[in-house]
Amino acid sequence: SLTLGIVGLPNVGKSTLFNALTRNDVLAANYPFATIEPNVGVVPLPDPRLDKLAEMFSSAKTVPATVSFVDIAGIVKGASEGAGLGNKFLANIREANAICQVIRVFDDPDVTHVDGRIDPMSDIETINTELILADLQTLDKALPRMEKEARTKKELRPAFENAQRAKEVLDAGRTLFSAQKEVDLPGLRELSLLTAKPFLYVFNADEGVLTDEAKRAELTKLVAPADAVFLDAKVEAELLELDDEESVRELLESVGQPEPGLYALARAGFHTLGLQTYLTAGPKEARAWTIPQGATAPQAAGVIHTDFERGFIKAEVVSYDDLVEAGSMAAARSAGKVRMEGKDYVMSDGDVVEFRFNV
Ligand code: GDP
Repeated sequence: SLTLGIVGLPNVGKSTLFNALTRNDVLAANYPFATIEPNVGVVPLPDPRLDKLAEMFSSAKTVPATVSFVDIAGIVKGASEGAGLGNKFLANIREANAICQVIRVFDDPDVTHVDGRIDPMSDIETINTELILADLQTLDKALPRMEKEARTKKELRPAFENAQRAKEVLDAGRTLFSAQKEVDLPGLRELSLLTAKPFLYVFNADEGVLTDEAKRAELTKLVAPADAVFLDAKVEAELLELDDEESVRELLESVGQPEPGLYALARAGFHTLGLQTYLTAGPKEARAWTIPQGATAPQAAGVIHTDFERGFIKAEVVSYDDLVEAGSMAAARSAGKVRMEGKDYVMSDGDVVEFRFNV
């Protein structure tokens, strides 16, 4: 499955956050594999629609979609020089499908900041500079070869020019992800450039920042078009220690938050990876299935079982909202809200589906 790699300067709260991510024991029943890899945290994607479906279909359980985060250990400053840990650090990031950057905005005199002060902008630059330098090395190696190839094969010229534009963006100290209007990122895929991956920024904040709308807006703008998530890693860790809903609610209230920050992180991670869900429901389970945005009905069926993709005939589809409004599958059918879709149908988030297939 797709993963987000967690990176950040030392002492920003990465371990605290990652421990909270891996302590999601709620998943163990449905996802026994979730604890196999020590450096992978699997978080459920909160989805209130599943409870509603479970009620409607008398499902025995609900199975949410999940998002996987990988803890990428290693130093950051100087990583692009490729020595020792730096090499491993970059190789691990290369394997991740998106980059989740943890930025410290909490103030705590007991926790040293590597640069001696809280400065989110400068921290982001420090990390991005290493990634940008690594990408420049990759491009500097690839460009002469691409230019040579473009000389003999005219059709390769646009790819070379695209790579040249990418170099200009990086030379200006910008990530490729932030320049997706100027550079054709899919066209650079074979180079596996680090800064072309989608970015997600997690601001590890204290209560002062969490409740400060203006500060949040300012930081959100700083990292756009990437998603920004605000949470307090220490509070997230404490929340997972609590086992009754009342205490959870009280702790959230005391820090002025409507829900755990991990919920927002799961949603943002899912979005950053370009994923969406569709839903199935029956007596056994109400379940959210993960598909890429833009997936067709047969591709969606293939997520349940590869045979379903091969033997796909059609999909019976109703949007979650229409289904809830109708009150039952039968009522949705008589209201004409249930559609028969063929193999070219592009799935929408929240489609409730039953597949017809040959096996
Ligand atoms: P890492 O080096 O990025 O993995 O950072 P750690 O998770 O080890 O955190 C470094 C220190 O900061 C530890 O003493 C944590 O308890 C503390 N810490 C982490 N998150 C927060 C936070 O949100 N608020 C405060 N006050 N301290 C935190």
